[in-house]
Amino acid sequence: MSKYDYDLFVIGAGSGGVRLARMAASKGVKVAVAEDRYLGGTCVNVGCVPKKLFVYASEVNEQVEDSNGYGWSHSGTSQFDWPTLLANKNTEISRLNGIYQNLLENSGAKIYDARARFVDEHTVSLGNEKVTAERIVIATGSWPFVPEFPGNELAITSNEFFYLEHLPAKAVVLGGGYIAIEMAGIMAGLGVDTTLVYRGDMFLRGFDEEIRYFVKDEVEKKGIKLLFNNNIESLQKANENIEVTLQSGAQLDAGIVLAATGRRPHLQDLGMNNVAVALNEKGEVAVNDHYQTSVENIFALGDVTGGMQLTPVALAEGMHLSEYLYGKGEDTALVDYTNIATAVFCQPNIGTVGLSEEQAGKAGIDCDIYVSSFRPLKHTLSGSNERCMMKLLVDKATDKVIGAHMVGHEAGEIIQGIAIAIKAGATKADFDSTIGIHPTSAEEFVTMRTARA
Ligand code: NDP
Repeated sequence: MSKYDYDLFVIGAGSGGVRLARMAASKGVKVAVAEDRYLGGTCVNVGCVPKKLFVYASEVNEQVEDSNGYGWSHSGTSQFDWPTLLANKNTEISRLNGIYQNLLENSGAKIYDARARFVDEHTVSLGNEKVTAERIVIATGSWPFVPEFPGNELAITSNEFFYLEHLPAKAVVLGGGYIAIEMAGIMAGLGVDTTLVYRGDMFLRGFDEEIRYFVKDEVEKKGIKLLFNNNIESLQKANENIEVTLQSGAQLDAGIVLAATGRRPHLQDLGMNNVAVALNEKGEVAVNDHYQTSVENIFALGDVTGGMQLTPVALAEGMHLSEYLYGKGEDTALVDYTNIATAVFCQPNIGTVGLSEEQAGKAGIDCDIYVSSFRPLKHTLSGSNERCMMKLLVDKATDKVIGAHMVGHEAGEIIQGIAIAIKAGATKADFDSTIGIHPTSAEEFVTMRTARA
């Protein structure tokens, strides 16, 4: 009989926390989870899922325009109603919240609809109640960060965007990462006059440079105005609008200013001062390969630990931890953080896995580089000037494909398959001997024969 109320107490019911709680509970472990906001965390409520639904909404108008070349005509004017999209999205998110609740409860985990705060290393408070656990896991995720500048309280973040009452006529998006580019694409697609302000020379820092430039051209074709080497100096309320003063001195006005300037570990109001859990220099919870913090019985996983802020990464960490603590122990394979594929759901999408040309160069890998850029078959009749780009990096010494990048329709879907091949160590010869699916854009990945000179 344990001297604790629970074997495992998970703080935060986001992607990583729920996966860990479910897996551990299904092994017969006595588990509780505390969540004071929404089941499913950022991904389900204010991230991946509603974002992708909004992306679908934003692409409809262009699909209608594309249909003219295929003989379709549409009488009358199309109307878009933001409140309808919001209401339908909210219904779907509520359904998913219910599924998360069922998954947790059916696994045997107890859910506390409350904020958990550390009292000591084995105790958390939940309102007036205190519970103890042999092990406690911090799975509280991350929270949008807004830089300091006068009037920054007028800026919203992705959190608020998902519940905006009115879609503005004009928007300014600050940032040049995943969220800024996806949000700018959503708003532009829904008819919002959108300007993206980024402090550097070229957005999407860390992505393959050729891809970044290609995306810039594609994004501009969609009508998004890009202001690089600039930043917001201040914001001021001007009637219903916000007056944006840029560091260049230029002024813009917008109905909303969305700061997509990164996400920080979410550790506020957790009672962290009551436990000796060490943070790293970025303020993230420092963990070892098994997600153990500096306190032996306290673990942490997902965004709160820094690293790649991606749902599938948090899921993998949750799986690992349940197996490490309640299964194979030290024999549990470590999470492999190499070759993690990601996508940016802008228009067209970016899909990427493995090294960029610049990363390969830095690592001293001598590469053959294959690049192809073309107008997809669909757009020969649609009249759209959207283009597609694919790029493969091949290590000359081993013939292994070490990077695959794509900008194009459903690049995320396509790169997911390529990622399996790369993970399995496929060589360029393997790609070349794979017979393509014709006619697709994806077949280009197995038909590129001439390396760039
Ligand atoms: P990112 O870290 O991707 O991008 C942050 C952007 O804000 C960068 O362009 C950065 O510039 C800029 N920035 C940071 N600080 C300032 C500042 N003080 N003033 C002006 N600009 C600033 O963060 P996001 O918020 O876009 O997204 C957070 C994470 O969420 C992503 O990294 C990703 O892991 C995840 N995510 C994944 C998605 C997907 O898989 N499709 C979708 C959305 C989010 P600089 O480049 O110069 O540092």
